[in-house]
This record gives sequence, structure tokens and C-alpha cells, in this order.
Amino acid sequence: MAYSLWNDQIVEEESIVVSPEDRGYQFGDGIYEVVKVYNGNMFTAQEHIDRFYASAEKIRLVIPYTKDVLHKLLHELVEKNNLDNGHVYFQITRGAISRNHVFPDASVPAVLTGNVKVSERPIANFEKGVKATFVEDIRWLRCDIKSLNLLGAVLAKQEASEKGCYEAILHRGDIVTECSSANVYGIKDGTLYTHPADNFILNGITRQVILTCAAEIGLPVVEEAMTKADVLTMDEVIVSSVSSEVTPVIDVDGHVIGQGVPGEWTRKLQQAFEAKLPLAK
Ligand code: PLP
Repeated sequence: MAYSLWNDQIVEEESIVVSPEDRGYQFGDGIYEVVKVYNGNMFTAQEHIDRFYASAEKIRLVIPYTKDVLHKLLHELVEKNNLDNGHVYFQITRGAISRNHVFPDASVPAVLTGNVKVSERPIANFEKGVKATFVEDIRWLRCDIKSLNLLGAVLAKQEASEKGCYEAILHRGDIVTECSSANVYGIKDGTLYTHPADNFILNGITRQVILTCAAEIGLPVVEEAMTKADVLTMDEVIVSSVSSEVTPVIDVDGHVIGQGVPGEWTRKLQQAFEAKLPLAK
């Protein structure tokens, strides 16, 4: 039996009722998070919870629980489902009320839901690398908010998938921002480049861990946007997210990156990243 989070309760998944007038359903008026679980342990849960509250504040949505209560509920959700390896997904919307763009008044309760999914680490991708394709970034200008509105990302990822690629590397004109559901980095002459954490990208929790790993292994970081041409001439290219961890990109639209295999720095970053994972219960 699968258990889900419904407001401040853990309930059987089938018992959840979401209104067709939920603002998340009608407007995408809400935010979400995904936390990775390794051997029953949530990784960087506090950072994800902090970003959840930060996203909520940016859209003026009041979460009616403290961070500690939410943390405990997520922990309980993992335990109840006996989840060893996978993800916890949770979202909150501005509640259900007769459709109107204007915010409902404060008496309309926000709707929090969450569930877990079993998944294994994509080890083959880490070892062999993946292909990516450039796609124009048509998303809005507040990509720093982890909004439920994912149409721009969905269309980009679908295009990548139809081209046989793992990810879409998004660009606004010539400037590379991030991927449809990951951050992107290039390594050239021993320096790591990635877009600054501004409104054009989501500041990935994995990105933050990777920047710490880079410092640990002596890889200098420059938070500056790359152009499309820069990406193609990088020695190494990486994409990162909760599920992708440190995934090497070895081909972009048929252009081979570096030697066409995961590079030295990528390997070192993968090792440093893996050393931080709660791989024992
Ligand atoms: N950028 C976008 C647009 C994303 O959707 C995601 C994750 O879903 C990321 C970056 C990576 O964020 P994180 O490392 O927190 O998973």
C-alpha cells in the first residue's frame, strides 16, 4: 500500500481528494520540491525545505506549517512507505476556490500533497555520459522559483527526448542558462563555469553541493554564463540535479565534447559528490 502526504497527515494514497478547482490544477499556482532518498535517508532535506519556503515567499504563498513539522512529515512519509532508494515529491498550491486569477483570501487553505517513488541511481549515465541538445529557453523570467508551471521545461524535455537526448540545454539567444530539469556546467583548462544563481536559473541543491565539491578538489569555479559556442568547445560538460547527480555530457547536437568520454575533473567531482551521500542507513 502506498502512503501519501495530505496537508499535515500521512494517508493512504487513494483517500486523497483534490478539487478540480485547485489553483495548482487550474493555474499551476504553487511550488514543489524533490528530495532524493538513499538507503532510507533523505539527502539535503533541510536545503530543499529551505528552498520550498523561499519559493513560497516569492509567490506570496503562506505555508501553514513550520519547517520542522514539514521535515518530520517527510521523514514519516519515507518510513511509512519503507522507501530505500528513490525520491520524495511534495508540492503546495494556493488552495481550491472558484476560478479567479486574483489570490483567494487568507481563509482558503493551501493544499499540500506529497508522495514517494522508487528509483535507482543512473550509474550507466555516470560512467558513459549522455547526449544533449540545444533548445531555446522560452520559460518565464523567474526560473529561480520552483514553480508548478513547467510547460517550458516539458516542451524542451520532450524535444530532447524525441532527438534521442537525455537533456535539453536551454539558451536565451546565445546565452546558455540551464537544462529543462538540471543545471549545466562546462570545464575548460581546469576551471568550472556555470550560470550565476539569478532569476534565469533554479539554484539547484545539487549545484550547491557540486560547488562545495569543486572547492574540495581544487577546481576553481567561475559563475558566469557560457555561450552556446563555449559549451561546444569545453573540455568537459556536466548536468546536475537530484536524480542526475553529476552526469557527464559527451555529445551536444552531434558535436563531441572533449574526448567523447567522461573527463578527469568530472570523475573527481563524481567521487567527491558520492562521498557525501548517505549510502549507509
Ligand atoms: N534547474 C531546473 C530547471 C530544475 O527543474 C532542476 C531540478 O528539477 C534543477 C535545475 C536542479 O535542481 P536540484 O539540484 O535541486 O534537483
